[in-house]
Amino acid sequence: MKKEYDVVIIGCGPAGIFAARELVSEGLSVLVVDGGKDVEDRVCRMKEEILCRQCNPCDVMCGVGGAGTFSDGLLNLRPDIGGDLSEQTGDVEKAWELVKYVDGVFLEYGAPDELLLPKGEKIKELEIRAASVGARFVPIGQRHIGSDRASVVIKNFKDDLTEKGVEFLLKTFAERLLVEDGVCRGVILEDGRAINATYVLIAPGRIGAAWVEKIVREYGIEAHYAGIDVGVRVEVPALIMDPITSINRDPKFHVYTHRYDDFVRTFCTNERGFVVKERYDDFIATNGHSMKDEESPNTNFAFLVRVDLTSPIENTTRYGRSIAKLATTIGGGRPIIQRMGDLRRGRRTTERRLERNPVQNTLKDVTPGDISMALPHRMVMDIIEGLEVLDKIIPGVASDSTLLYAPEIKFYAMKLTVDHQMETTIKNLFAAGDGAGLSRDIINAAATGVLAARGILKRSDGKS
Ligand SMILES: Cc1cc2nc3c(=O)[nH]c(=O)nc-3n(C[C@H](O)[C@H](O)[C@H](O)COP(=O)(O)OP(=O)(O)OC[C@H]3O[C@@H](n4cnc5c(N)ncnc54)[C@H](O)[C@@H]3O)c2cc1C
Repeated sequence: MKKEYDVVIIGCGPAGIFAARELVSEGLSVLVVDGGKDVEDRVCRMKEEILCRQCNPCDVMCGVGGAGTFSDGLLNLRPDIGGDLSEQTGDVEKAWELVKYVDGVFLEYGAPDELLLPKGEKIKELEIRAASVGARFVPIGQRHIGSDRASVVIKNFKDDLTEKGVEFLLKTFAERLLVEDGVCRGVILEDGRAINATYVLIAPGRIGAAWVEKIVREYGIEAHYAGIDVGVRVEVPALIMDPITSINRDPKFHVYTHRYDDFVRTFCTNERGFVVKERYDDFIATNGHSMKDEESPNTNFAFLVRVDLTSPIENTTRYGRSIAKLATTIGGGRPIIQRMGDLRRGRRTTERRLERNPVQNTLKDVTPGDISMALPHRMVMDIIEGLEVLDKIIPGVASDSTLLYAPEIKFYAMKLTVDHQMETTIKNLFAAGDGAGLSRDIINAAATGVLAARGILKRSDGKS
């Protein structure tokens, strides 16, 4: 390991590796530091529980490839899903070009050719159906790498970077930054070693969000709390969703509710999939996934309310955690499950009602209960109203037997203020990806990494 690099990148997820590729291609010396292991040494046996007890949580979220390595590897080929790239590019067309570019790189490293494209004529019909009830359908092309192939693509990517001269320092977390007179000059590792660099790019992903908050405070980097998404995981017979998922595998519907004018959306649809638990330090939440070798008779999706806070409490993460903790308390340490009909009528779902419900729950370790005891009134009303709007587009989705699991919650990192080159308010310190609040999915994280690298190249003596 050298004493000085042109660029040190913190984080080896999509944002970090895409940035490294751009930089090394232009002849810059690059070191990528990651607290996790190499891709082949990471272990995960996700099934009933995301971050299951058999897995080392750090193996799931940390290491070469980042959080995407054990994911379904579903690439959302849109700049405005999983972030808003045009905010950074300043131009919608450039944002789309960037998405195509990132997708092309994934193909180069072995992502499958097949594209899941929304089907033309039928898309128009869906758009009209959604618009007629005041909702919006957002068509999206996707590429499904698949959980089995994602790690192969990542290995190919890393091997190519190594061949081109990128150095990797793994199983080592960055602890602090070297900042002198408002200019970032390198990083200090957890073992106390200092690495000097002309530029530093922080790309530490969601797992690094707390670390980002720490350095924001320590170095006075400009940042603000981003909104969070709170709601439920909805489970219905696959037959109900088939007419929609056959047009678009992961359909995105956006609704603004009448009562509160709140933004509610569908997210992460798992066709014939399973609802799973998501274990945090002090609460339980829900999520969903689908598997290649096992199907359920149900389809599930997240139905989420956007929560932004202003004075006196802007810390959306703290608010979200307190909601999730309350839900965990009322569920006796398990996710709460409730039939839509019971929620609508203000009564608890009991074991007996659940047993005779026509839709059987795929996640068994749950407490039949009352979601209105767990989530704030406003969110419950948004969920009921939003699902009833959705029912007019997807008949049956809000029927009495529909199952709702709570809480489902999506936290996002503090959003760092960056300019169009992705430079933060500290000179020579650049940021990209989920950990800096600049993206929320693989494509957008990778694209912000590309933008940050191009920003660095512009600044580095005309090497771009
Ligand atoms: C279970 C799961 C499934 C998902 N499925 C999908 C999907 O199908 N499609 C999709 O688009 N998105 C999916 N996502 C989200 C996607 O994985 C992320 O949006 C994406 O990986 C973010 O990329 P990133 O580079 O910003 O950060 P990450 O991929 O999180 O990588 C950050 C890296 O930084 C390292 N790091 C953190 N702090 C430090 C530090 N202080 N020092 C050194 N290293 C550090 C971490 O070890 C990690 O390897 C999924 C996420 C999860 C958890």
